[in-house]
Amino acid sequence: MEIAYSGKLLKIPEFGTFPDQETALDDRINSEMVELAVYSCWYPYWSFGNKFDISLEVSLPEEWKCVCSGRKTKEVKENNRVVSWWSSKKDIDIVVIASPELKNKTVKTSSGIIDVYYSKLPEKYIIKETNEIEKSLNLFTSLLGKPHISGSVVKHVYSPKKKGQGSISRAGMIITSEGRILDELTRNQDISYLHSIAHEIAHFWWNFGTGQGDWINETFAEYFSLIAIREISSKKRFDEYIDKYKKMVEKLPEDAPSLSEVPPVNDNNGYIIRYYKGSLMLDYFRELLGDKKFFKICKDFYIKFNEIGAGTSQFKDFWSKRLGKHRAMLDVWLNAKGGLNNLKLK
Ligand SMILES: [Zn+2]
Repeated sequence: MEIAYSGKLLKIPEFGTFPDQETALDDRINSEMVELAVYSCWYPYWSFGNKFDISLEVSLPEEWKCVCSGRKTKEVKENNRVVSWWSSKKDIDIVVIASPELKNKTVKTSSGIIDVYYSKLPEKYIIKETNEIEKSLNLFTSLLGKPHISGSVVKHVYSPKKKGQGSISRAGMIITSEGRILDELTRNQDISYLHSIAHEIAHFWWNFGTGQGDWINETFAEYFSLIAIREISSKKRFDEYIDKYKKMVEKLPEDAPSLSEVPPVNDNNGYIIRYYKGSLMLDYFRELLGDKKFFKICKDFYIKFNEIGAGTSQFKDFWSKRLGKHRAMLDVWLNAKGGLNNLKLK
């Protein structure tokens, strides 16, 4: 099936720039920048998460720099414009970001090439950032093998917007609001985005949970970001995160849904269950099994399901078999509603 469409993006206010927003988007088309992604009203909408083959043609004034998720297949200059073609197979989205202000810095690492795009951020910040991306990539590759989706290039694009939602991750590409980082830097020169960057990088592996099983994506990406903190920053910071998550999960109401029933949305409790409670479950089993066994099971789980997808029942079957005598606790973690008290941990 082939679908062709065209249209105009109406002037919609930017997400996060005014109170009581009902309609606001990260998507922009204006004289300073373009940002479009699948949650845009520009693209035809499929329910999120379905994979399809995407190709995209982008035409911009020649002084603009453009970057998309997916692979650039061709580029030509014609009449003061640059036309580029991009393609991504079996993907959920293709993001376009372009601006005349964009610069880029490329770093070659043993795990592949890192391409950072930015406009106003200081050089010092960008160097620290590429360093942390390299270390996270190397760590996750050593634990899980090569990611199946990113090829050998990781792009981190600081979209030159003022606010926006923060960060999103797509195949081989992370998109972060540059304005939000610049705001943070005025308050704290030493900020580190290792936690959120490592979370987004971990999604290069952890992106095959389907339907209700989307918690698998967030739980594993979040927990692996904590492991990156443990290995790249310090064990102390790792412990602080775990303590913070325990406190948050303890506050969940008695009837908050269990991991096996939590809907795939980030309402307040949904976020705490899918990111924090899930991470605590993985941490519980890592403590029981030790790092070596635990990460081997993670790797085998990834290898078995990354192409075919996994929901809660596939997760449960696979991990039950591998947990041996600890399997009863898996049912407890998956089925207990509310906070940690209902787990009756031994
Ligand atoms: Zn995530």
